Amino acid sequence: MSSIKQVTVIGAGTMGNGIAHVFAQSGFRVTLVDIHATQLAKAIETIEKNLDRQVGKAVLTEEQKQSALANLATNTDLIKGVANADLVVEAATENVDLKLKLFKQLDEFAPAGALLATNTSSISITRMAAATNRPGSVIGMHFMNPVPVMKLVEIINGYATRKEVTDTIVALSTQLGKLPCVVNDYPGFIANRILMPMINEAICSLYEGVAGVEAIDTIMKTGMAHPMGPLQLADFIGLDVCLSILNVLHEGFGNPKYAPCPLLVNMVTAGKLGVKSGEGFYQYVAGSKELVVSERFR
Ligand code: NAD
Repeated sequence: MSSIKQVTVIGAGTMGNGIAHVFAQSGFRVTLVDIHATQLAKAIETIEKNLDRQVGKAVLTEEQKQSALANLATNTDLIKGVANADLVVEAATENVDLKLKLFKQLDEFAPAGALLATNTSSISITRMAAATNRPGSVIGMHFMNPVPVMKLVEIINGYATRKEVTDTIVALSTQLGKLPCVVNDYPGFIANRILMPMINEAICSLYEGVAGVEAIDTIMKTGMAHPMGPLQLADFIGLDVCLSILNVLHEGFGNPKYAPCPLLVNMVTAGKLGVKSGEGFYQYVAGSKELVVSERFR
């Protein structure tokens, strides 16, 4: 059992609300911080809805749901939000300049002994650590989406991460009911270094007219036993997130095999980001679970 009791999650988007949910459900006191009060309100609403679903499935009791909600607080002020943190998990937008600035602030305002983790999909942990005066206490804690459901936590050691810090985060992930897997800090780590080239190749196959959206996804779902086809998965992750990860791989390795497909670049430029914008390779109507290929690709 670690000494971590108070956790601050920075960013209340897709991942931040899920991360806050699992910590609160496991008995940690959680402060969720976002620059937008609307995002915080939306996150609490999502957490409540997801806890209700767990109660409905008899995974949690009503009392456990109430105690998880009682563990949650929100703040739009980062300085106040991190003041008592034993651990900060940064889950803000995937943008290197933003994260470097955030890590400087976290180092300045979080208690000296606090551990600083990031949920980044691909940005260098070593680089974020170098923006602080405590590089040994900085680590990657990469949850998968949707966080309350997915077991894996990819734990990434930066160049300077101390072994005790890795051990603490491994133990903590187990305490959350997750399966920790430790890797080293190179572009894309393991999960996205392997996943993103597959997604990019699926997009390139569509771009070159080798097959349509449904054929590509059906082949990978039924032929390779993937629960989702790569194009549907890209929509689910967010096409902007996929593009920024591919750019990190491309720049980090300097290898043209990671160059993002021009179709992906065009779609992101046009604001077609997948589920979150209502359209990507498929179109998404609120309240409907039917998978409909976007008109552009029919
Ligand atoms: P998102 O766009 O849904 O949410 C990002 C949130 O960060 C927004 O609510 C935004 O208001 C907030 N934010 C921006 N600047 C901030 C600041 N200075 N202080 C506080 N909050 C700020 O993004 P997401 O999909 O939740 O991704 C968050 C992180 O998790 C990224 O690093 C991403 O790469 C990583 N990640 C995403 C997925 C995924 O499937 N979406 C999976 C694993 C990891």
